[in-house]
Amino acid sequence: MTANTHKEGIHQKLTAPQNRKCIVCRSVKPRSQLLRIATHVGAEPLIDWIGTQQGRGCYVCHLRPCLNKLVAAPLMVERHLKAKVDLQSTSDLKKQIQNVLEKEFSETHASVEA
Ligand SMILES: [Zn+2]
Repeated sequence: MTANTHKEGIHQKLTAPQNRKCIVCRSVKPRSQLLRIATHVGAEPLIDWIGTQQGRGCYVCHLRPCLNKLVAAPLMVERHLKAKVDLQSTSDLKKQIQNVLEKEFSETHASVEA
């Protein structure tokens, strides 16, 4: 008799390392199509470009609609990371996401804010 049951195999399937769930639209996608947002304990959440930042992480689609929604409701990150994020950090994260939106999804340069 072994201690392992087939249940472990099922568990591994559900947590396949390549796929992550977007916290905004909840669709499951390959990691390469998602942005990781990570936070250290007691540190501000950051976009984790290389995907190796330590600490809790959550994912959002690298797509304009999902990023827009996250900018509108950045506290989603706090809920998913199960970490307290202070207001300053929340607005910093918002800025980072807005930067991504501007750099990667900008179609016009109509509005430039000082
Ligand atoms: Zn999404």
